[in-house]
Amino acid sequence: MATKRDYYDVLGVDRNATADEIKKAYRKLALKHHPDKNQGDGESEERFKEINEAYEVLCDEEKRAAYDRFGHEGVGAGAQGGGYGFGFSDIFNDFFGDIFSHSNKKTRQRRGEDLRYAVKIKFEEAIFGVTKEIKFNRYEKCASCDGTGAKKGTKPVVCPVCKGTGEIRQQQGFFTVSRTCYKCKGEGEFIENPCPVCKGEGRVIKERKLDIKIPAGIDDGNRLKVSGEGASGFYGGPHGDLYVDIIVEPHNIFKRSNNDIFVTVPISFAQAALGCEIDVPTVDGKATIKIPSGTQNGTQFTLKGRGAARLNSGIKGNEYVNIVVETPTNLTLKQKRLLEEFAHESGEETHPLKKSFIDKILSINK
Ligand SMILES: [Zn+2]
Ligand SMILES: [Zn+2]
Repeated sequence: MATKRDYYDVLGVDRNATADEIKKAYRKLALKHHPDKNQGDGESEERFKEINEAYEVLCDEEKRAAYDRFGHEGVGAGAQGGGYGFGFSDIFNDFFGDIFSHSNKKTRQRRGEDLRYAVKIKFEEAIFGVTKEIKFNRYEKCASCDGTGAKKGTKPVVCPVCKGTGEIRQQQGFFTVSRTCYKCKGEGEFIENPCPVCKGEGRVIKERKLDIKIPAGIDDGNRLKVSGEGASGFYGGPHGDLYVDIIVEPHNIFKRSNNDIFVTVPISFAQAALGCEIDVPTVDGKATIKIPSGTQNGTQFTLKGRGAARLNSGIKGNEYVNIVVETPTNLTLKQKRLLEEFAHESGEETHPLKKSFIDKILSINK
């Protein structure tokens, strides 16, 4: 899964760029990668989305501040689940108005918005994969008018104002100025009798239930793309995509870093000194580790292949077991006596670290 690029890098601006500089950079890039200019170019389409996503955050003072402090996390998920907002095309339309409609007529059929959804899963579910049912609201094709926006039994008509061209031309001195038609908003068609169910929009908001297959090895912060599960297109246009952000709940024993899992296991100092066998937890059951006699605090043992799977491959990481040697507390009188006896019996030879430490101190004082 690709990691997200830094929003400032995406727009090619400095971290302390002014709002105006950000706006300019966005405008230039968005024009270059606009889908109308790059039909069928998947890379440009991805770039376009990326640019819009970055701008959506950086043009908003609050979101930008959150991003500066917390990175993508600060402006992405956060929520317990639930969709957040309709996608990228909204700001685009606000910003550019009808800049593209001068050269070509707007088609009524347009792709639907992309949607985002955050799913929280358990630590183990991320390790082994899981299928989650999600529910969200999205625009769907209006069944009553079959997405046309025109009342049942009627059809959109050619716009009487612009005669279907989508623009109105006016002579002003030497120039001919063309403007988007106010009646049909540049679409060239006009609905005389709007569908009462969708009010002529051709789409209605409905709840969508979907099973999302989350693959084994997914990690916190990963994002899945579910093609064609975004909002329905406008007037029969294709659906947008759905992006699912994965939030993995922390575990109370295991910690994960990429495909490796870390666990801290306490043992008594008698166990450490004498050696023993201990059972340690792994994500797929217990494993036994032989602790050799004289094991020090902080020693790490490796359980090969007992970590998390790498996404879309069977290869697994390791589990690393960190040993903490615990000093006993609340000693009974007998235990105290035995330890004093033990201390009396122990020379420095049995504590190699301590011995070398004392040797070092002595060499300083010389
Ligand atoms: Zn018109
Ligand atoms: Zn309708």
